[in-house]
Amino acid sequence: MKQNHQVPVCIKVRGARVHNLKNIDVDIPLNQIVAVAGVSGSGKSSLALGVLYAEGSRRYLEALSTYTRRRMTQAAKAHVDEVLYVPAALALHQRPGVPGIRSTFGTGTELLNSLRLMYSRLASHRCPNGHYVPPTLAVAADQSIHCPECDAEFMAPSAEELAFNSQGACPDCGGTGIVRTVDESTLVPDESLSIDEGAVAPWQTLMWSLMKDIAREMGVRTDVPFRELTAKERDIVFHGPAVKKNIIYQNKTSGAAGDMDFTYFNATYTVENALSKVKDEKGMKRVEKFLKQGVCPHCGGTRLSDAARAPRLRGISLDEACTMPLSELVGWVKGVPASVPEEMRPMAHSICQSFQTVAKRLMDLGLGYLSLDRAASTLSTGERQRMQLARAVRNRTTGVLYVLDEPSIGLHPLDVRTLLCVFQTLIDHGATVVVIEHDLDVIRNADYIIDMGPGGGEAGGRVVASGTPREVAENPNSITERYLK
Ligand SMILES: [Zn+2]
Ligand SMILES: [Zn+2]
Repeated sequence: MKQNHQVPVCIKVRGARVHNLKNIDVDIPLNQIVAVAGVSGSGKSSLALGVLYAEGSRRYLEALSTYTRRRMTQAAKAHVDEVLYVPAALALHQRPGVPGIRSTFGTGTELLNSLRLMYSRLASHRCPNGHYVPPTLAVAADQSIHCPECDAEFMAPSAEELAFNSQGACPDCGGTGIVRTVDESTLVPDESLSIDEGAVAPWQTLMWSLMKDIAREMGVRTDVPFRELTAKERDIVFHGPAVKKNIIYQNKTSGAAGDMDFTYFNATYTVENALSKVKDEKGMKRVEKFLKQGVCPHCGGTRLSDAARAPRLRGISLDEACTMPLSELVGWVKGVPASVPEEMRPMAHSICQSFQTVAKRLMDLGLGYLSLDRAASTLSTGERQRMQLARAVRNRTTGVLYVLDEPSIGLHPLDVRTLLCVFQTLIDHGATVVVIEHDLDVIRNADYIIDMGPGGGEAGGRVVASGTPREVAENPNSITERYLK
């Protein structure tokens, strides 16, 4: 068989002088896991990000259409003589940013977009009088739906109207699924104190202390330890009505006395009132200690308004679909086209297909156990990175160069194993993975190591050893070598 000499087997970097790199030449094998190691400041990032990623992304942008490119910032050419055979590069951040409260596995992976579209276009919608109308092409045609039971004409909700981070948000919790309520157990932290001594904490910090005087007027003993108060007295403190009482008061600075009508704010309401007036972080800090977080009773934590939870697809609502583990949801989506009328099936297939493509990638990355409603803030760093990887590989399956900056940071040893499996998946799909690493587990399991050094800063910027882990372990020049043995 004739050998094809045209296929490049490595990225060839010649004369790299980015940052502290000392005019170095280095070959980076393609389609392998390559670890760039070395002490800090040795030039690892300069090589991986400054040369490989910079050149790869510059070429990637050049390859995009002019229209798209115009809207992106052009990466500057790296300070290097020549970089040959560098594939389009994507850099993945070491720690994906801390996700916001409205970020979920579903929103982060864009699976929820497809699912909402399914629900808007393909579901059985509820008329204003509560009847369910079978799925109809009218929705896709932007026409109103006719209810055969009550003759009502109504519009189906758009995908946007089914979004909890948009118009579909539960009005009580604003689409977070969580409400903050007063935690009564925090209101009187020390029951050995009397009210006069400051037993009721919110009256001390959030309200004028004359609430004590009003409570006294209402029949609460304020000069005995709080723990001695009767149930009735306690009830007045925590839940007493907002009555007006005439109180004689003395101005602390001028000493002048007067009397005025004051409305009673019980301890609970004192906190609620302060919460409603919170304007900034500092104000929130003062109120926060009296609050507890709980599942929103209105939406049951689904984040969705009643209207957004109304449509039914294969008999279930959008929020119910979002509680299924992805591996199960995939099977459910498979059955969606058959659940709609014949004439809607081509459209159904196309919407479901886009869902399945993304879902398959996530399953390949071992995330099939996550449900779409899972709050992104509760995912581990490893899970978030895999989500990020899935997004990165969405459109390209081959020939991509991934440059990762310490992906193992914050991972448990077990997650590091998974990460390595993920890298292998990418390699199997034809990609090249370059990782800047300190973690020996990752370095040891790489296909190839480039050891930078020998020192940091001016003392670095050279390749001191390179090759397979075994080769580097036997190279006396390598700093990493002694750890690999
Ligand atoms: Zn109806
Ligand atoms: Zn809610």
